[in-house]
Amino acid sequence: MKELTVVSGKGGTGKTSLAASISVLAPDSVLADCDVDAADLYLVFDPRRLDSEEFSGGSKAAVVPDLCTCCGRCVEVCRFDAFTHESGEPPVVDRTFCEGCGVCRLACPAGAIDFSASLDGWVYRSETRRGPMVHAELALGRENSGKLVNLVRKRAAQWAGSKGLDLVVIDGSPGIGCPVIASLTGVDLALMLAEPSVSGVHDLQRLLSLSSQLGVESAVAVNRWDISPEMTGRIEDMAREAGAEFLGRIRYDDRVTEAIVARKAPVEHFGEGAAEDMRQVWRRAESLLRRQ
Ligand code: SF4
Ligand code: SF4
Repeated sequence: MKELTVVSGKGGTGKTSLAASISVLAPDSVLADCDVDAADLYLVFDPRRLDSEEFSGGSKAAVVPDLCTCCGRCVEVCRFDAFTHESGEPPVVDRTFCEGCGVCRLACPAGAIDFSASLDGWVYRSETRRGPMVHAELALGRENSGKLVNLVRKRAAQWAGSKGLDLVVIDGSPGIGCPVIASLTGVDLALMLAEPSVSGVHDLQRLLSLSSQLGVESAVAVNRWDISPEMTGRIEDMAREAGAEFLGRIRYDDRVTEAIVARKAPVEHFGEGAAEDMRQVWRRAESLLRRQ
């Protein structure tokens, strides 16, 4: 079983359109939506949930008012300013800021700090018209984390194994933070989608460096290449210098947006133009995966 992750330096690069198209072109695959902060694949494929699983990123502190003597010691020791405290009242923990370090519990003389696992989100296994899909939802105010991405990937790989499918297509988180590291670590191919701009070149440089540190094979494609043929040329050169295969150029095409509005992957919505470019990118990525 192989894992292909589609990543980009930031959101809005067209990563999800490409990941959705690849998942349609590779029907014997599980699709894993690890871009939990901008879960557009959910909108494209209208999944029918088969089951759900609660996700906890860790434990968080909470004050038990009946035990609290209102001494304020916990407020003093918290380095993350997670408490709000009014004189004479038990402090209250803002779980968004609590890092779960446990220092307040150690410091509390009254044993009034409770630690319980926080409910940070849900992971779903769903059926879609293109095949199986694993996706996630964050609880209100929670941030995407590497742990959640790991869980989505784990469930997708398990499902692929039990169904005898040989590929997991991952829509990775954008950027280079913890969720994208979790989207890339250990995958067979990182397909980096770049945009032809100064910031796109910079973003790609950082992604190539990250995947090299992680020991992951990289391949590069440019989206909306005709906006700047010059920058596209620079990206191709940069990919070659980094030892990454250049998979192709995807032209600017209004129908890509129309497809997403119509809740379809571009390759489901139209046949030529950018959809044909995406087919070409997938054919080359597939042959790279086969060669491994
Ligand atoms: S567990 Fe750590 S971060 Fe959370 S409230 Fe206590 S001291 Fe602050
Ligand atoms: S340290 Fe314990 S007793 Fe003191 S204010 Fe905090 S929770 Fe209450």
